[in-house]
Amino acid sequence: MTRFILFLLLIYCGYLLWRYVKKKFLMLDRSDDTTFRKEPSSIAELVQDPQCGVYIVKDKAIKVNIDGREVYFCSEACRGKYLERKEGERKS
Ligand SMILES: [Zn+2]
Repeated sequence: MTRFILFLLLIYCGYLLWRYVKKKFLMLDRSDDTTFRKEPSSIAELVQDPQCGVYIVKDKAIKVNIDGREVYFCSEACRGKYLERKEGERKS
């Protein structure tokens, strides 16, 4: 009986090893895919500049917190203009 259990254990170990090796190989195979997969996510990271309407990559955009809302700008100039406009809206 113990031999049978040992045999099962061996099969299980082999199975784990096989799975591990397979995973490793799959990861190597997909090393090229991951760069492809990163692209759509970076596209999804695009944000719109409310001042000029241009789309910018979130990481490169200038982030400003306005009324608890995150707003992104393409440049300091746009940020300045937008904040000025907001201030004008508030006063009027
Ligand atoms: Zn802009």
